[in-house]
Amino acid sequence: MALRLYNTLSRALEDVQPRNPPKVGIYVCGPTVYDEPHIGHARSAFVFDVLRRHLLYKKHEVTFVRNVTDVDDKIIEKTKQEVTKSPGHKVTGDLNAACREVSERYLASYHAAMDRLGIGRPDIEPRATEHVVPDMTDCIARLLVQGAAYEAGGDVYFAVRKWPGYGKLSNRTPDELKAGARVEPGERKQDPLDFALWKAAKPGEPSWESPWGRGRPGWHIECSVMSMKYLGDAFDLHGGGLDLVFPHHENEIAQAEAAGKPFARQWVHHGLLTVNGEKMSKSLGNFVTVEQALADAPHPDYLKLFFLKTQYRSPIDYAPAKMAEARKNWQEFSRFFQHYDQRRGPATSGREVKSRLPNLLEAFNEAMDDDLNTPRAVAVLFELVNLGHQALESPGAEAAALADYVHVTLLECGMTLGLFLQGTSEEPPEALERILARIAERDAARKAKGFQRADAIRRELQQEGILLSDTPNGTFWRRAQ
Ligand SMILES: [Zn+2]
Repeated sequence: MALRLYNTLSRALEDVQPRNPPKVGIYVCGPTVYDEPHIGHARSAFVFDVLRRHLLYKKHEVTFVRNVTDVDDKIIEKTKQEVTKSPGHKVTGDLNAACREVSERYLASYHAAMDRLGIGRPDIEPRATEHVVPDMTDCIARLLVQGAAYEAGGDVYFAVRKWPGYGKLSNRTPDELKAGARVEPGERKQDPLDFALWKAAKPGEPSWESPWGRGRPGWHIECSVMSMKYLGDAFDLHGGGLDLVFPHHENEIAQAEAAGKPFARQWVHHGLLTVNGEKMSKSLGNFVTVEQALADAPHPDYLKLFFLKTQYRSPIDYAPAKMAEARKNWQEFSRFFQHYDQRRGPATSGREVKSRLPNLLEAFNEAMDDDLNTPRAVAVLFELVNLGHQALESPGAEAAALADYVHVTLLECGMTLGLFLQGTSEEPPEALERILARIAERDAARKAKGFQRADAIRRELQQEGILLSDTPNGTFWRRAQ
């Protein structure tokens, strides 16, 4: 069965039909790096990590591209604030180096937070600043030649009304969209709906040479250019949060199509996250960073299970009570793994009895293929847990084989959902990091056929009470009870 996803562009569920199967190319809008990563970033990254995992599980070859916006008004603003605040720091008039330092720092925070959550890094992570000349300037030049854009005093704007398809993603006409558009001070647009492809340089700010004078690119052009550079002019899936449908993704489509490219086939958008029923914002004081969330819920899977209990397109509300519930739910998994280790020992496999059992693996896959219905997929995991406990308490070889099957299937499905990648016990971050580093070392040794080395690491970890099981989705580890 093919995976079906809701396509924002056609407003219908559609089978994912890759252009070059089994390859699938996915482009997702990544972070603008000017602040600590929050749980909204975590949800976005996790939604697409689960999509990637499911596609890999279905034997697709996935190329996952997620950009980093490292030049932007917000980064420049943040840098100015930090420069002014830091004692003894002289403003040299050249913000360039300071901006780079700020974006590097917050990108490192973003990586650290996602690594701690066990969310895979993208295959390709292009940075806007590394694709300005000639990638973005070439595309802007082409749009000028096509008559889709115009120059105005060192800026270049996209002429929205000259592009007949504009509004098709957000399903609104330019006249409907115009109501919310305005011309900011300093902008030289002919129409409030037009948007900047290139912004003339302001003194000291990061800037690049171009045929229109020094300046920097607009935000939208970076994603059109970088997605097509790494995935081709026509690619399979483009993703992001619902807040990006308009104007960001609408503008991406307009730019790409006006430049004569077919662009993305399917558009996948996830719902937004609120905190205690309100939009997250610093001024409301309800801004929850990934670090804070992990301090309150010390196993990354609690946050992941909380996310999984809501289908990705729905809004999700973060609240302490819901996290406590997710933690309680999750402990049912850890109880099953303990029960299993006590009764069956750490290294068994039970594939052979699969055909004799209610096909929960199939139910899991059907749920995932149905627009990533993770609440239903999670319900299957809990059915497996119940079945597994019963089997472990029953006598006989058949019951034992069933328990083994449940164990293998629970790991297979759970890991496809991004769970069970970081053990089943609450570990301090340093301990977790060390265990994961040792496991990564063992994986590398195994890949290089250094089996003695790999066995030595396994034995060392075992002496510390860490048990390892190898699964098709990676190494499953837990503390011996
Ligand atoms: Zn983007």
